Amino acid sequence: MIVGERKPLSIVIENLSPWRKILVLGCGTCVTVCMSGGEKEAQEVAAILRLRGFQARALTIERQCEMEFNRKFAEEINREEVVLSLACGIGVQILSDLFPQKPIFPGVNTTFMGAPIVQGLWEERCSGCGDCIVHLFGNICPVTRCAKSLLNGPCGGSQKGKCEVKPERDCAWQLIYDRMREQGRLEELLRIHPPKDWSSSRYGGQRKMLREDVYL
Ligand code: SF4
Ligand code: SF4
Repeated sequence: MIVGERKPLSIVIENLSPWRKILVLGCGTCVTVCMSGGEKEAQEVAAILRLRGFQARALTIERQCEMEFNRKFAEEINREEVVLSLACGIGVQILSDLFPQKPIFPGVNTTFMGAPIVQGLWEERCSGCGDCIVHLFGNICPVTRCAKSLLNGPCGGSQKGKCEVKPERDCAWQLIYDRMREQGRLEELLRIHPPKDWSSSRYGGQRKMLREDVYL
């Protein structure tokens, strides 16, 4: 899932300050699960904005990242001066593609692709490199979870299983070692991996995926 956190209210209010009539638009998928932009948060933000003198109301769309879901609410969206979207950055952009004349502001800072680990804690697990090799590392992604993205780790700096870059965080390579040992596959870690081909990653700019079999 995509994880995001609420933008500081002071920034939201500053962005919205030239307008009065605001539609706070929640998203019913990832940001609902990470409790930053779902129906409950949309209602809360609208209530806060009303207290600050805005005419704000809340609405939640099931998935703002898909045009069809947004299209159904065109009338509601067009009725207000501006939209404060509590979706991830994808939702904000898709919404804006569909309603290009409408000022739309992000109310959430999109942070990473991750998972809830325990209540109130989300961890990044994938950087979307476009060529998944996680099976080589006991399904612990070194690209994402090692601070240096080392494919031939460890770096030698970890202390008591913790990362030297962020000591409060587990060393990914300690986790990889432990997992591979559990699976009786330690000898696989002796393999030297050549530099990864990053052309499938986002460093070359925006990526697209075309599926000829389902393309209309
Ligand atoms: S190897 Fe790439 S695709 Fe696989 S989990 Fe890591 S970043 Fe994600
Ligand atoms: S201590 Fe571990 S996680 Fe941190 S940079 Fe070194 S190998 Fe990567």
